[in-house]
Amino acid sequence: MRAGHPWIFSNSVRKQNREGISGELAAIYDRKDEFLAVGFFDPDSPIRVRVLHTGKPMVIDEAFWKTRLRTALGRREGLFDDRTTGYRIINGESEGWPGLVLDRYGPILAVKIYTAAWVERLPRLTALIREHVPTEGILLRISRNIQTIAGPVRDGTWLYQSEATRNSDGKVVFLENGLRLEADVLRGQKTGFFLDQRENRLSVGGLAHGRSVVNAFSFSGGFSLYAARAGATSVTDLDISAHALSAAKRNFDLNATDPSVARCPHDTIQADAFEWLAKKTERKFGLIVLDPPSLAKRESERARAIRAYEKLAASALAHLADDGILVASSCSAHVSAEEFFASVRRAFDKNRRKFAELKTTRHAADHPATFKEAEYLKAVYVRAIN
Ligand code: SAH
Repeated sequence: MRAGHPWIFSNSVRKQNREGISGELAAIYDRKDEFLAVGFFDPDSPIRVRVLHTGKPMVIDEAFWKTRLRTALGRREGLFDDRTTGYRIINGESEGWPGLVLDRYGPILAVKIYTAAWVERLPRLTALIREHVPTEGILLRISRNIQTIAGPVRDGTWLYQSEATRNSDGKVVFLENGLRLEADVLRGQKTGFFLDQRENRLSVGGLAHGRSVVNAFSFSGGFSLYAARAGATSVTDLDISAHALSAAKRNFDLNATDPSVARCPHDTIQADAFEWLAKKTERKFGLIVLDPPSLAKRESERARAIRAYEKLAASALAHLADDGILVASSCSAHVSAEEFFASVRRAFDKNRRKFAELKTTRHAADHPATFKEAEYLKAVYVRAIN
């Protein structure tokens, strides 16, 4: 904890002076009874305390949170121009806001909470956000695992709504590097869009000119839109969800005024991407993106996930043109970046394909990760040679 880790697990609490209730502030003392930290107490989670502050005793009041919000906003200054209106403003523990994220989608803000400690603090949080961030509406999303203990507050509640959003269905169009994209803030996964992949989408755009593209695990087609705009010869979105693919079609329609997007043939395939890629085919692609959901939800699934990443990359290789580029990404926190990169390199080696690694990436600047459990996203860009 002194080194900055923000969680205290239930099994490392030696003594408690009394029973605590969810969301109470807990003061932590070390073996010598010296003050160590203060955090949110959570009797319902194995993460018993989520640390807010370590070091000297400190008052956790409005001024404390105001400073934290200003710090988070300051960190984003200069990161985005007006061509990007969708990004993360607060990224949980890594920015001193345990169990809370705040995302911006144009005029709409989404607050997502992962601990019930925030429930009673929502009115004050709403007021604080409105004071610092201009907005037409703030939607609350509640992580599934705390929905039953969050009390009367429901997932999808508007914490604030202006007249302009009175009839909103929760779908919002925002900008990402000049592309128009739709987020389903009310019902979508996370807070309605995968903002964490923005930099990888931009990079894929930079590699796609003149290539035919398969975007596996496409969700709403983000990667393929960047590729289409950059002059890809065709883009194919592959996802198991019909819902995701219809969102992809809407996103292409939203950008039909861009001549390159309008010119690029776009098709969608609803299928299990693992099975689809495992099938033999004559057709080769110049660029393949792999962005599967987390393959290791817990530590015990780590080894199996590493093998699955290798297998997935190997399947993709069978579809990759001689000078094709593979962009493989992993969002499993239990698989380290090095383990993941190694699995992709093994797939190339075993297939006897020569390759040049173009780059690897980690978290984007608006998704900082300051401790191991918060680090989940990594991607490797590999170009096949011959
Ligand atoms: N690349 C996307 C985010 C992908 S999220 C972006 O840039 O926005 C992961 C996606 O994988 C989801 O849309 C989910 O529907 C899809 N998915 C999950 N399991 C799948 C499977 N077995 N086959 C194909 N798609 C799958």
